[in-house]
Amino acid sequence: MSTSIACKICGNLHNNRIHHATERLLNMGDPFDYLECASCYALQIVETPENLSKYYPTEYYSFRQPKFGLSLNPLVYFLKKSLLRHYLQKFDPIGALLSLFLPHPFHWMKPGLLEFNSSILDVGCGSGRIIQSMQRSGFKNLTGIDPFLEKDLQDTPHLKILKRDLFEMTGKYDFVMLHHAFEHMDQPGKVLEKLGELLQPSGKLLIRIPVANSHAWRKYRTHWFALDAPRHLFLHTTHSMHLLAKRAGLKIDGIVYDSSFVQFASSEKYLRDIPYSDDFSMFTRKQMKDFSREAARLNGIGDGDCACIYLSVK
Ligand SMILES: [Zn+2]
Repeated sequence: MSTSIACKICGNLHNNRIHHATERLLNMGDPFDYLECASCYALQIVETPENLSKYYPTEYYSFRQPKFGLSLNPLVYFLKKSLLRHYLQKFDPIGALLSLFLPHPFHWMKPGLLEFNSSILDVGCGSGRIIQSMQRSGFKNLTGIDPFLEKDLQDTPHLKILKRDLFEMTGKYDFVMLHHAFEHMDQPGKVLEKLGELLQPSGKLLIRIPVANSHAWRKYRTHWFALDAPRHLFLHTTHSMHLLAKRAGLKIDGIVYDSSFVQFASSEKYLRDIPYSDDFSMFTRKQMKDFSREAARLNGIGDGDCACIYLSVK
């Protein structure tokens, strides 16, 4: 259905389309309209629900506490740090040996992006799963913020997990990262400007998001798992991200696609009206392999449904 509603990102008024989506992750079924821009191809919810918190119950997956023990065995800490030193392209024979058996624990961490003492801010950190894991691999200056937390979870010199809104934050960081948080935020232009203000002049910004005009969107439309109505307010494209970055005085340094089998397995379940769960036993091993192989192929040609977007100050 075409509409005369303007795109909230590029302002385009012509040939925009409306898609009727429903809440599927929690099996609530509430209806939500999304606009697909005919110019920048970004998807956006037409009306942000007033009671958005209703769609973030306390059991929402990003608020689940990670299952870490209280203390980390010093040997395990040493080995984890060695592995990461190797992946950060520092000379570490033990890490090099471990890397023959163990993958990079943080695939989005490009060599040269971080040092162990870099000041790191995780915006929309949930219960802090990623930064807690980073602390356990040797990082020493970690802050996570999430306005949806019930309270501050941790406030120590090396690791802070705070109930804070992005716009309350001050100071400058070497590295700011958003792991599947940006798409949950209203006013992405203002958010990006604020993120730019929080960066050191040589600082780097990583935004990991679902990508709207990807193969999975074209194939599954409103059954696409990553549409995630109504929690995802904006689903960007490289085009819309370039526009927003330019306005915020930022530039995109690189894009790495990191979609997985989930784009197929979870969307196929939605197509069959099967609610979300991480149980994929309905698929054969061959189907799962094919999903992963197809995801890798799409990532290689820049058509996966998730991407890591690396930015810096212009
Ligand atoms: Zn647009």
